[in-house]
Amino acid sequence: MNAPVRIDPETGLKVFNTRAAKASDKITGQGYSVVTDQKLTELPKMPDGATFNAEEQAKYRAFKEARRGAADYMAMEGEFKKYLDDVYSEPPIPREALTDECEILVVGAGFGGLLLWHKLSQAGFTDVRFCEKGGDVGGTWYWNRYPGIACDVESYSYLPLLDETGYIPSMKFASGFEILEHCQRMAQNFGFYKHCLFHTTVEATTWDEASGRWTVKTDRGDRMRAHFVILANGILTTPKLARIAGMEKFQGESFHTSRWNYNIDLRGKRVGIIGTGATAVQAIPELARVVGKLYVFQRTPSSIDVRDQRATTDEERATWATESGWAQARRARFARISEVRAAVLANDDYLAGKIQDFKERKKHDRELTREERMQKQLDSSFRLMEQIRARVDAIVKDPKTAAALKPYYPYGCKRPTFHDEYLPTFNLPHVHLVDTAPRGVNEINERGVVHERVEYPLDVLIYATGFQWMGTSTFNSIRGRGGHSLKEKWETEGTRTFLGLHSRGFPNLFIVTGPQGGGGSFNFTDVIYAHADYLIWVLQTMRERGARIVDVRKEPEDKYAEHCRDVDIATAPLRDCISYYNGEGKAAPGSLAYYGGRQWDKFRIEAQSSLEPYVFEGNSN
Ligand code: NAP
Repeated sequence: MNAPVRIDPETGLKVFNTRAAKASDKITGQGYSVVTDQKLTELPKMPDGATFNAEEQAKYRAFKEARRGAADYMAMEGEFKKYLDDVYSEPPIPREALTDECEILVVGAGFGGLLLWHKLSQAGFTDVRFCEKGGDVGGTWYWNRYPGIACDVESYSYLPLLDETGYIPSMKFASGFEILEHCQRMAQNFGFYKHCLFHTTVEATTWDEASGRWTVKTDRGDRMRAHFVILANGILTTPKLARIAGMEKFQGESFHTSRWNYNIDLRGKRVGIIGTGATAVQAIPELARVVGKLYVFQRTPSSIDVRDQRATTDEERATWATESGWAQARRARFARISEVRAAVLANDDYLAGKIQDFKERKKHDRELTREERMQKQLDSSFRLMEQIRARVDAIVKDPKTAAALKPYYPYGCKRPTFHDEYLPTFNLPHVHLVDTAPRGVNEINERGVVHERVEYPLDVLIYATGFQWMGTSTFNSIRGRGGHSLKEKWETEGTRTFLGLHSRGFPNLFIVTGPQGGGGSFNFTDVIYAHADYLIWVLQTMRERGARIVDVRKEPEDKYAEHCRDVDIATAPLRDCISYYNGEGKAAPGSLAYYGGRQWDKFRIEAQSSLEPYVFEGNSN
């Protein structure tokens, strides 16, 4: 058995053996089933000529306004801290606290960290150390293991390093469990594990001007120094709870979806789930298969689009087994699709490269004005939402339940979901939708949830209440030049970055897939690739110039922040609902969860050719 920390005799670098064992074999599940009933895999016909007229706009507005201020969340602290426990791994491997130095310290061992390691090591950067809160790799796919979990972007374009590992996903939309295994495959194949400190949470990151290093403190007593810090820990990782009166009194079992407790046997039990976002939509059909009674407490319905899951075909397997670079080529074709829904429908022949074109937009005779373009987008979003609402009526038998399941907001304003079994679940006699709109559940007692004086007794209560936006200690305690914190900077000046990756005053610190960073794609994997390639370029450029420190100048950062602000303002009507994307309706333009523009590449290319945004400084010792 290797020591948890030892020196590699070949490289002289410290290597680690801190991966924790899996806690239980019960932790397993599947994602979307293949549904053969055609009625369930199609949207009803698009209503001809329907427009988002004043009457419909008023309906959307009323739906939104009724929910304003209803969102009330809390961190898992005090007696609720137990919900954060890592239920997936054996306890942390004991190890010494580290006080040494490395070249590059990366926070996070999810897709971002794994891909970075592959690219960094290929580019000759090997003194790289990763800190990961979980007991194994996977990030999102480590923590989220609820039944039904799967990706919503086709797995052939979503899973990184398929060409390099030779792996072919089993389904078009792979289950989270298959994705987690792929993360372990990436780690295993490319020697990631020995670079990673698992069960290690970064708590404070502080710049030391004199030495030109970051000091990184962790919850394991480490006090490491690094030339570069890359934050690849995701922005939506810390789970949150709805704040509900009496929740501490509940005597049954309870947990959050991101720490699914497989030790609780749900068979035949009375189970309640609070929340109907993307997580709950995937978990509910699976829960309904095993529990005795299921109560779904909904405040706002999700849009439930078609899924149309399928297995990878024999033809695909045979072709890809011999076609080098198939996944990269497919991801590039997939990236040409700019609309979320078009990606669902994307023609497999196009994605496989058999046909060259995929037209998602009609060409107009003349250039439309900005207002005309917006109206067209709103009209087509409205028509699509009409189809989504008609689908509810076509599938859900009880009219009251069907009415409650219909969402009234622009498509994509809340995260779109895709499922062919979710809506039929509400026809099952043991499944009950409790419509708590517009204010949500606001009372829990010893026995269960109480809504409008009706008590719903429960054995198990599941919180599907989502995640805090950038709520990690990693983000909240970064101190750069002059002792200033990133949090304070963004709170006082608004989110301010260059390309989402740099923030002035925080030299040699890079944020992967953070705010303002989203490279214009809804496939996060594209963004991670773009960011990793960009960071390799930064590091190589510095190496060539003999520079040890990089920061960005004020003017380009301001210009980029202004651009993000403009994009948010221009697209605001498409996001006119209450959602975590827009800080529950409160986020200032430019500070939204995701960059919605398409000019990231333009800014990047200009910067790389002129080098004008950067301040490079020479040798630190
Ligand atoms: P979420 O989207 O934030 O959903 C939280 C849910 O809790 C919402 O439905 C919210 O209602 C509800 N809620 C909060 N307080 C409530 C109360 N007092 N009473 C009743 N309902 C209440 O969280 P999530 O579903 O975990 O998803 C988070 C993100 O993770 C997704 O947006 C997505 O980006 C990612 N995700 C991805 C996948 C995938 O790729 N397949 C799957 C799952 C999750 P309101 O809408 O009214 O606020």
